[in-house]
Amino acid sequence: MREFKTHTHISSNWLLRKLNFGFCVANHFFFPDTWSTQRIKVAKVHEMRHAIQQCQLGFGIHPWVGMLPFMLLYFLVFLPLGLAFFRMFFEYQSDRDEVTYLVETGRITNTGVLKYYIDESAKTVSGYHYFFPCPLFITKLFYNRIFNDLRLKMKT
Ligand SMILES: [Zn+2]
Repeated sequence: MREFKTHTHISSNWLLRKLNFGFCVANHFFFPDTWSTQRIKVAKVHEMRHAIQQCQLGFGIHPWVGMLPFMLLYFLVFLPLGLAFFRMFFEYQSDRDEVTYLVETGRITNTGVLKYYIDESAKTVSGYHYFFPCPLFITKLFYNRIFNDLRLKMKT
C-alpha cells in the first residue's frame, strides 16, 4: 500500500451537528465542531481504518481509487440477501481499532466497561437505523472476538 495523507475537517454544518456523527470520504475525515478533541482523536482511529479499507479496495493505490467500491459494498449491498455483511465487517475492523486504542491508551481499564462498549458498538451496527442490518447474532460472533482478545491483553 502506498503512503497517503489524511485530512480532518471540523465542521459547524447543522446536519452534522444534529446527526452527531463523524464520517470519512476516502482520506478526508469530517466531524462536528461540537465534539471534544479527545472524542475526535478516538473517532480518527476509527475513520483511519475506513480509509485503509478504501485504499485496499483501490488496489493499494489510494483511498480515492477504492472509494466507489467501498461505498457500493457499504451502502448498496444491504439487500436481505447480502445481510449487510460487508458493512458489518468494515465496522467490525474500525471498531476493533477504536476499542484497542481505548485500551492501549488506558481509557478503558475495566473488562465490564470493555464488554459494555463492544456490545453497544455491535448493537449500533445491527441497529434499526441501518436498513437491512446484519443480524445481531452474526455481528456478535465478530464483536465477541474483540472482547476476548482485548480481555486477555488487559490481564497482562
Ligand atoms: Zn465506521
